[in-house]
Amino acid sequence: MALRRIDHWLALGTAGLPPVETGPVYDPNSGVVQAEVPLAGRAVLDRAVEGALAAQPDWAATNPQRRARVLFEFKRLVEAEMDDLARLLASEHGKVLADARGDLQRGLEVIEFACGIPHLLKGEYTPGAGPGIDVQSMRVPVGIGAGITPFNFPAMIPMWMFGVAIACGNAFILKPSEKDPSVPVRLAELMERAGAPRGILQVVHGGAEMVDAILDHPAIAAVSFVGSSEVAQHVYARGSAAGKRVQAFGGAKNHGIVLPDADLDRAVEDIVGAAFGSAGERCMALPVVVPVGEATAEALRARLVPAIHALRVGVSTDPEAHYGPVVTAEHRARIEGWIARAVAEGAELVVDGRGFRLQGHEQGFFVGPTFLDHVTPTMESYRAEIFGPVLQMVRAKDFEEALRLPSDHPYGNGVAVFTRSGRAAREFAHRVNVGMVGINVPIPVPVAYHTFGGWKRSAFGDINQHGPEGVRFWTKIKTVTSRWPEDDGGSGQDAFVIPTMR
Ligand code: NAD
Repeated sequence: MALRRIDHWLALGTAGLPPVETGPVYDPNSGVVQAEVPLAGRAVLDRAVEGALAAQPDWAATNPQRRARVLFEFKRLVEAEMDDLARLLASEHGKVLADARGDLQRGLEVIEFACGIPHLLKGEYTPGAGPGIDVQSMRVPVGIGAGITPFNFPAMIPMWMFGVAIACGNAFILKPSEKDPSVPVRLAELMERAGAPRGILQVVHGGAEMVDAILDHPAIAAVSFVGSSEVAQHVYARGSAAGKRVQAFGGAKNHGIVLPDADLDRAVEDIVGAAFGSAGERCMALPVVVPVGEATAEALRARLVPAIHALRVGVSTDPEAHYGPVVTAEHRARIEGWIARAVAEGAELVVDGRGFRLQGHEQGFFVGPTFLDHVTPTMESYRAEIFGPVLQMVRAKDFEEALRLPSDHPYGNGVAVFTRSGRAAREFAHRVNVGMVGINVPIPVPVAYHTFGGWKRSAFGDINQHGPEGVRFWTKIKTVTSRWPEDDGGSGQDAFVIPTMR
């Protein structure tokens, strides 16, 4: 039987484009290839740019409230198709349906934020900045923006980017992960049904070749990237060398610090959910737990082990499952390789999830929950991002050591502290060298009208995602200084020279 083919979503269609190789799209639950996706490059991108260039000026000239109305309608359409979209998403990604709905829902929250963007596009005005001189600064769209997104949030992360970019008056070209590309295409279809002109949201498929084509394309003004740090760094360097505005978000290794006064039962529930939910394939997962003091470590371990054994691994559609398979067999091998490495480095393997096979789904890409104790900061398996259902425990002797661990770690996306002490929490939050902090909140992903972004190797570039920062990223400022001289026959007083404010 011929495989389903996932196509680009282009305003000008795909007729006449040169044939390209395709890549497999798996169902990680069964291990079966369920579709194929084209791995295209410059020719497809040129066609998308042509469509974007044709559509963007009129869209930028459409008043901001009308643009926002399209986003209101888009939200309604996505909500109406939530169940179908969640199933499709789960079938390519492997996350359980509740997580797939969460992926869509967190994206929609940025769409809701984007519906209010007219308020943030108002600009600034100074009347009488000099004699007869007025100054106004306005936010104008950058023009054509592009987004390159990872496999782990195929709905939320594209919506973070295109919701804000489109509301600001840009045309947007999305290059989703080639591992789960179907939902992004469905979102583009829905955006068109919601009333966005063709060319305002297009989807192109591919891997590294397409990414480099985007980074090099002279018509693309700004690029937003989310993925691993190695690729983020490359995207940032190449895109900025080409004169683009670039924000590139990378990997993570978030720590959960447990102080001796924490509510341990509560903390264990939170840590297990944050470490193993979505099979650990979240950039805001909590794969490292740091108890402070030996007594806390022993008490925490005594509670963690049974909670980890109680986790149910299942297919995406199993309503009882806590998490599903990881995205590919290759990624499973990588995760299992890191577990072996941790053991070789001297960590204690308390719960081993390697070799896990789910009955009836033996070919699925499952990894059992894994727990390693006595991990130390010099271990490579501690410094690296594993991105799987693996929890590592690093024991700290005191508060200062616990504060140093996430602060000195190469990644700086998120961190959480569990305590009953407001004073300790405040000190931790103020001093820790990490971009997003949770206090008794295991996954501190900021709400849509705040802003998302980590520090150190977790982010390259200087403007965050969504919230007012997103508006800054997807607009540029034009400042108009105007003077209207009185028509008094020309005394020379009103000569148009550089205005200085005497
Ligand atoms: P990835 O870096 O492999 O892929 C991300 C994107 O880059 C994809 O669209 C892919 O096609 C493209 N790409 C892959 N290799 C490339 C190359 N050599 N050159 C150019 N482009 C390339 O990441 P992934 O495995 O899809 O996603 C998981 C990673 O994303 C993890 O590291 C995770 O922490 C990170 N992530 C970060 C955040 C954040 O906000 N900081 C959010 C989600 C995921």
